[in-house]
Amino acid sequence: MTDVLPAPNASAGGGQAAPPAPRVLPPLDDTNRPFWTGGAAGVLLIGRCADCRRWTHPPIESCPECGGPVAPEPVSGAGTVFTFTVNHHAFHPAVPVPYVIAIVELAEQPDLRLVTNIVDCPPEAVHIGMPVQVAFEPNGEAFVPVFRPAG
Ligand SMILES: [Zn+2]
Repeated sequence: MTDVLPAPNASAGGGQAAPPAPRVLPPLDDTNRPFWTGGAAGVLLIGRCADCRRWTHPPIESCPECGGPVAPEPVSGAGTVFTFTVNHHAFHPAVPVPYVIAIVELAEQPDLRLVTNIVDCPPEAVHIGMPVQVAFEPNGEAFVPVFRPAG
């Protein structure tokens, strides 16, 4: 099987600097920067309450459960596909279709989920419950967390 998706941010080559990968990222601030840049050190950083130890995502400052302070902590990067869709519509000429948009549930907590892409895998092979592992795609200052099949 050679039916592997090209990386969405694969550069076009040539002597010019490649344009930024066309993912739409939120503006980075003190609250979400750890999530988007932890991949520089190879870790996925997710907010965790200092008081009740509950994980939360997307990044926020205060725990929705107890109001305690939330600070980023590394997770294992292991998870499972909670649900997904295969996108066939080309929103941007630099992003080849089809690609998989998924909600991945992280291993650390049953309701700890994030929206991401499944990469290094034919879309037709993706299924709910599939074990996946985080990987990171550099994009400017950010290292976008994506997931590939585990193992
Ligand atoms: Zn809490």
